[in-house]
Amino acid sequence: SSMRWERAWVEVNLSAIAHNVRQIRTLLPPNTELMAVIKADAYGHGAVSVARTVLKAGASRLGVATIPEGIELREAGIRSPILVLGATYTPEQLQAMSRWQLEPTLCSPKQALVFAESCRDRPIPVHLKLDTGMSRLGVPWQEAAQFVELVRGLPHLKIASIYSHFATADSPDRAVMDLQHGRFRQAIAQIRELGLELPPLHLANSAATLSDRATHYDLVRVGLAIYGLYPAPHLSGAIALQTALQVKARVTQVKTVAAGTGVSYGHRFVTDRETRLAVVGIGYADGVPRHLSDRMQVLIRGGRVPQVGAITMDQIMLDVTDIPQVDVGDVVTLLGRDGDETISADDWAATLGTISWEILCGFKHRLPRVAI
Ligand code: PLP
Repeated sequence: SSMRWERAWVEVNLSAIAHNVRQIRTLLPPNTELMAVIKADAYGHGAVSVARTVLKAGASRLGVATIPEGIELREAGIRSPILVLGATYTPEQLQAMSRWQLEPTLCSPKQALVFAESCRDRPIPVHLKLDTGMSRLGVPWQEAAQFVELVRGLPHLKIASIYSHFATADSPDRAVMDLQHGRFRQAIAQIRELGLELPPLHLANSAATLSDRATHYDLVRVGLAIYGLYPAPHLSGAIALQTALQVKARVTQVKTVAAGTGVSYGHRFVTDRETRLAVVGIGYADGVPRHLSDRMQVLIRGGRVPQVGAITMDQIMLDVTDIPQVDVGDVVTLLGRDGDETISADDWAATLGTISWEILCGFKHRLPRVAI
């Protein structure tokens, strides 16, 4: 295959992504839309190929964080509605969004006024963001009705939806989530009192989509679950997801060293026996966190072996003494499956004290994305 010569790459199983979209859809009423959140290059999976896959499988909208992320999709010929979830401010940004038919998030009165001023040719669909407790983007939920009235009075802006975002939907403790949902309901009730027809409403991320049908409203915004990971272990029962991303690299040299030999920078690892080492062509510049040094395992020839010594910029070393057949050119699986063994982004996240989202987004562009 074309990957024969690559030292390291990311494999993306697009049928797993399609499967996940169909699984998520089973939780949704037929007229609830699914927005696939594909910011950060589709959480490292490759935005364009993921966009095409999810739109075919049952998503009808896409969410990105930034304008360039949206333009990349449009340049690839993707026609679905695209919401820019991040903040945008300037007339130039508004013009770029108008030109590329990207839909901005409106999160302050000032921004609404700037946009209304700079948007003279065609009306632009805008999505009003309420802060119900995430304390990130959005107008305070208590000011929702005023904000809606202001935007309604601006002729060039058309309210396409009203939304908010959960801070704790992945926690088994539902108190904050329920508080936020209550605030969202109150804000909506106040908007309704203005005598307005409500635009589409949305609130749910992956965790809420999996755990609470009352949060689904007209649309759910799903990121992580599209990629086959669960936001938390207690949410893994609802549907069967499949992970889509695997990280692979090749053995580039094999050697036997004596007991007492220091390995890699700083000699933080010293062999305690005669050791067969495999050098592998992937390192922290590819997104393997250096903090995993001496704390990760990899899969090779269907078995599990420890990584030893400091992870370097472009290479790592393995102790393959127990699998003597290992040879130059062998494929090493850092994340993914080999035989009966699996290593997941959740495993790395647990070791590092972080979350799977950060692991997925961490793989650099130096690793080619290969659709399988
Ligand atoms: N909605 C917004 C506003 C987001 O920022 C994100 C991602 O962080 C999502 C939805 C999707 O979240 P998740 O990946 O947990 O489904």
